[in-house]
Amino acid sequence: MDCIFCKIISGSIPSHKVYENDSVFAFLDIYPCSEGHTIVMPKKHIGLFTEMTEKDASDLFASVNIISKAVSRAFNLDGMNIGMNVGEVAGQSVPHVHVHIIPRKRGDNGGSMHSIVETNPGNENLADIADRIKELL
Ligand code: 5GP
Ligand code: ZN
Repeated sequence: MDCIFCKIISGSIPSHKVYENDSVFAFLDIYPCSEGHTIVMPKKHIGLFTEMTEKDASDLFASVNIISKAVSRAFNLDGMNIGMNVGEVAGQSVPHVHVHIIPRKRGDNGGSMHSIVETNPGNENLADIADRIKELL
């Protein structure tokens, strides 16, 4: 498998590992957005979050929860952004599912989730939008 994150998991590409269990591997991002920027990923190669089973996603986020608390304490954080770029259009550059934990401090001049995209769709039809989603659950 020619995947850099699979190679990080196997150890053929070195990384600064911070956590590992049966299903998850976490390491420091090589180009950190802020000090302590950590990547958490499933050991199983899966390209997109939307291709994961509920069980795999649940295991992944249980580890994100554990690791985020340690990152927060390690850097005495004021907060953090936790998120994923899902798909190339959303900025995913490595096609192996991963969650970013990005530490935040007051005054760091960073943005919020709301700064990622703003297509201004309006909110007149939220009931219809909710129905479209609910029909497919
Ligand atoms: P994405 O853009 O796919 O959401 O995130 C991929 C992340 O992986 C980027 O933040 C990038 O800096 C990081 N990354 C890419 N290649 C390597 C690598 O070889 N080692 C480490 N530690 N991080 C990497
Ligand atoms: Zn992979």
